[in-house]
Amino acid sequence: MPIIDGKEVSATIKDKIEAEVKELQSKTNKVPGLATVLVGEDPASAVYVRNKNKTCQKLGFQSFEHKLPENTGEAELLALVQSLNDNDEVHGILVQLPLPSQIDSTKILEAISPAKDVDGFHPINVGRMMVGNALLTPCTPTGIIAMLDHYQVEIEGKHAVVVGRSNIVGKPVSILLLHRNATVTICHSRTRDLPAVVKTADIIIAAVGRPKFVTADMVKKGAVVIDVGINRVDGKLVGDVDFENVEPIAELITPVPGGVGPMTIALLMQNTLKAFKATNALT
Ligand code: NDP
Repeated sequence: MPIIDGKEVSATIKDKIEAEVKELQSKTNKVPGLATVLVGEDPASAVYVRNKNKTCQKLGFQSFEHKLPENTGEAELLALVQSLNDNDEVHGILVQLPLPSQIDSTKILEAISPAKDVDGFHPINVGRMMVGNALLTPCTPTGIIAMLDHYQVEIEGKHAVVVGRSNIVGKPVSILLLHRNATVTICHSRTRDLPAVVKTADIIIAAVGRPKFVTADMVKKGAVVIDVGINRVDGKLVGDVDFENVEPIAELITPVPGGVGPMTIALLMQNTLKAFKATNALT
């Protein structure tokens, strides 16, 4: 059974969170609160935000939904972030990216209190992650590690090759793998002979954003293959890995959809719960 079931792993994590929220609520009379901020009408972003709010309700969190028009100014968004920073019922703040061009995303992400930065993108949390003591780490990379752990994939001492070096996936997942004692190689668009490098991997993380980029000839027999890519081809979702041809070679592989995708939202909820517990000095 070489296919990793991201929905099942995600459901296991969410069930645990739901039970813990119930228990904490009976002890403290408080629940975690997540604020989502959506600026504009991007349909994909709207779906992501709706799913996040629905998951909040299902797990017993409070959700605070903020929808702002496309022409919202930076000052207005900064003021909203500040009010959410000051709101004691809000433990996590998620500003859905991308933001419209008149708004500087870096400024907004840096305005979020690091204690409420459940996306793990604030430079303070990124720095803490680098030194290995972050409470809040980025959701997709953390979800990938949780998935490997769920399937009892040994990380220590393994050669992990990460294809992609973005700040939201490639770099953070590389750091998290390094903290778990993997030997990590990061590939990108300037890597020479990328297929040969990928071929040496025990664990491949594909975060490229190019459909079927990782082909069977790049994969060592028995490798664990994690496909982060979400690409739309002829109206269908396709990953960064040529699933059909890589699956027979891999020891374990994630499908798209149904692999990494569902983990991201589960880890967002877990980060919000962590932030809630930290503010309320709960263990
Ligand atoms: P980015 O576009 O920010 O980064 C892509 C990376 O891939 C870059 O580092 C780039 O290299 C590298 N790359 C692009 N083309 C090549 C190439 N031909 N050869 C080698 N390297 C290449 O993407 P993200 O990291 O944000 O996302 C990656 C994918 O994961 C996307 O499909 C995205 O939709 C998906 N995603 C899925 C999530 C989930 O929840 N499942 C969450 C986040 C993203 P360079 O830096 O040199 O340009």
